[in-house]
Amino acid sequence: MEVRELTFKGESDPKLYACGKCGKAYYPKIYSGREEVIHAAARRAAEECCKPRFCDCGTELDSAWTACRPCRDRKMLAKATIIKAADYSGPVSAECAGEWGEGYSSDLAAMIEACHDAGEPVPAYCHPCTDHPLRVDPDSILENATEEMHEEAADQIVDADELKAYINAWNEKQTCVTYYEDRRRVIIIDRVAFDDIMSGPAAKWRRPDGCGE
Ligand SMILES: [Zn+2]
Ligand SMILES: [Zn+2]
Repeated sequence: MEVRELTFKGESDPKLYACGKCGKAYYPKIYSGREEVIHAAARRAAEECCKPRFCDCGTELDSAWTACRPCRDRKMLAKATIIKAADYSGPVSAECAGEWGEGYSSDLAAMIEACHDAGEPVPAYCHPCTDHPLRVDPDSILENATEEMHEEAADQIVDADELKAYINAWNEKQTCVTYYEDRRRVIIIDRVAFDDIMSGPAAKWRRPDGCGE
């Protein structure tokens, strides 16, 4: 990409280098080294700024990621532990609307049913979820309460144990749970479709200039 040099009024030596496309400026002083080295680094950064970047598979990247979404998914799936559907019961998350929305469902059967109801294809795989129940931490409440007070305030609390016992008992009554997708585990729903994802036709494509080999 074309680089534009920025100078101070009345001077001729460049102070900043800007991307010719988006105008973002790069300042040599953020680099370390000799004057020519840091100027070369800032110029290079401006040059690279809006240059198209490619995933190893050849797909042009449009974000800060260093790989495209299918390649990132494949990498994540390759590392994940495969769980048998029969060995897991509980909420799941997948690339679909899901029973609860945003891909989440109370269990695998509910997810498949939600796909059928919505006329959506059933995803090739889903992830089990980890649960985070609503809990209030008495220690951090006391810490917050005394934080801005005088130095010894924390030592002058009377009957902290009573508060802790009360809050812990209250915590036990709570039924609110948030589920998070656990990408370290995967349940394969459709083996053929899953293998298709993993072999990724895009991965066989290479850029004509041979980069990304
Ligand atoms: Zn740019
Ligand atoms: Zn890719």
